[in-house]
Amino acid sequence: MGPDQPWNLVPLCNEHLLETKTKGIKEMFIRYSAIRFQIMAMGWKLNGLGNLDHDKLGKPPKTD
Ligand SMILES: [Zn+2]
Repeated sequence: MGPDQPWNLVPLCNEHLLETKTKGIKEMFIRYSAIRFQIMAMGWKLNGLGNLDHDKLGKPPKTD
């Protein structure tokens, strides 16, 4: 995962870091309010498809 991934900015203990790698950040987002709070504070949310989206970062890059 690159440094621009939002969950890399969320401090996690080794146990929950491992859980993130096995279950995925979306599952962690749903399961843990503390993680949800921190990720949402960075501007991320679950969109209608149940995927993490960001008003600025989640849109495809402009090609023009
Ligand atoms: Zn933990």
